[in-house]
Amino acid sequence: MTIKAVTVLGATGSIGASTLDVIARHPDRYRVFALTANTSIDKLAELARKFQPRYAVVKDEQHAELLQQRLRQSADTEILCGDEGLCYVAAHGDAAIVVAAIVGAAGLASTLAAVQSGKQVLLVNKEALVMAGRLFMSAVAEAGATLLPVDSEHNAIFQCMPGNYLCGPDSLRSLARMGVRKILLTGSGGPFRHTPLSDLVRVTPAQAVAHPNWSMGPKISVDSATMMNKGLELIEACWLFDARPEQVQIVVHPQSVIHSMVEYIDGSVLAQLGNPDMRTPIAHALAWPERIESGVATLDLIAHARLDFQAPDYQRFPCLRLATEAMHAGGTAPALLNAANEAAVAAFLAKKIPFTAIPTIIEHVLREIPTVEPHALADVQNADRDARKLAAAIIAETGDQL
Ligand code: NAD
Ligand code: MG
Repeated sequence: MTIKAVTVLGATGSIGASTLDVIARHPDRYRVFALTANTSIDKLAELARKFQPRYAVVKDEQHAELLQQRLRQSADTEILCGDEGLCYVAAHGDAAIVVAAIVGAAGLASTLAAVQSGKQVLLVNKEALVMAGRLFMSAVAEAGATLLPVDSEHNAIFQCMPGNYLCGPDSLRSLARMGVRKILLTGSGGPFRHTPLSDLVRVTPAQAVAHPNWSMGPKISVDSATMMNKGLELIEACWLFDARPEQVQIVVHPQSVIHSMVEYIDGSVLAQLGNPDMRTPIAHALAWPERIESGVATLDLIAHARLDFQAPDYQRFPCLRLATEAMHAGGTAPALLNAANEAAVAAFLAKKIPFTAIPTIIEHVLREIPTVEPHALADVQNADRDARKLAAAIIAETGDQL
């Protein structure tokens, strides 16, 4: 068996840790080619010592210097920095697989570079696809990249598709030709599913990141609490599976045992089940179309005993409505939505705004900034910049009122 070289973008995060855990279980199949981080130098140094990558990438020269000091003995790892370094390792011809696990818009350029180099790309950075959906999927088709969804819901949907299915804007694999009637996108509803609406204004970052089922990075944990995560995932599903928003039904499923479902025109509904552990979708996408062990415990259905399903509450979770509207509006609207959300979530985590201001800020940005059809990445980046600028101004005002 040839050993595949893997690049992990965002290696020091929650997904990075799960990915490296799976990789370490299969030294006969995978070796690490490059690892990247932003500013977590100690963590990256530890990972670099363990996995001996050819490249390590960090935020800037200053952090590169710090990493160099920590890695004195392991002179074999070359240290690069910035977006240039990220894109270089993402596109490098010696790596067969890229795991795109940087959080947020910061991962867009490198995720796109990986796709454009025609590799096997494991997509975890959903924000990249939300921001630049059409450009992103066109790049997948043009470069012939193999795009494998790792977001647990999208990986579940992918697993429920016919065996020859591949993500891409390919009419031969349209949902209609596959006999698919709709996609059922499940979500737990997060930690505030039952919190009285009047209490939401007072919830703290610590309460918001305490997800009932999944252990994740801070940004996606807040997104789960506002259910913006499900909104972003609706947009993600539309691009990955070439679906219209009406073909994706959001179903609240508090136990997170079913990770999503696909309904066929004959009435069959296929579901993928498993423990809420990201090593399952990561292992599936790494080895696809084969199967490998992931280290995830066996699912104890008897212990779970019951699975519940509910309709989403659009009043409690306005972010769901905003994301659906942005997908319908098209063009740069999802990029504006994403940027405003990233800015608002960061401000909430920094205790500058209340939890309930997150949707208010996003709605304001979507209302004020006109949407255009992006023809190039620069158009998406301009929308991202404009949305952050406006969001920052609103956050400053909101902060003054507190
Ligand atoms: P995290 O915060 O734990 O890790 C983020 C990683 O990105 C870190 O390695 C960090 O160094 C890097 N990073 C952050 N800002 C950066 C920047 N400006 N430039 C370069 N690198 C930067 O996040 P996570 O929970 O691992 O999530 C990563 C991505 O995966 C997100 O897009 C998230 O939506 C998606 N995702 C995560 C989970 C999960 O269970 N954690 C599940 C599904 C999807
Ligand atoms: Mg998900």
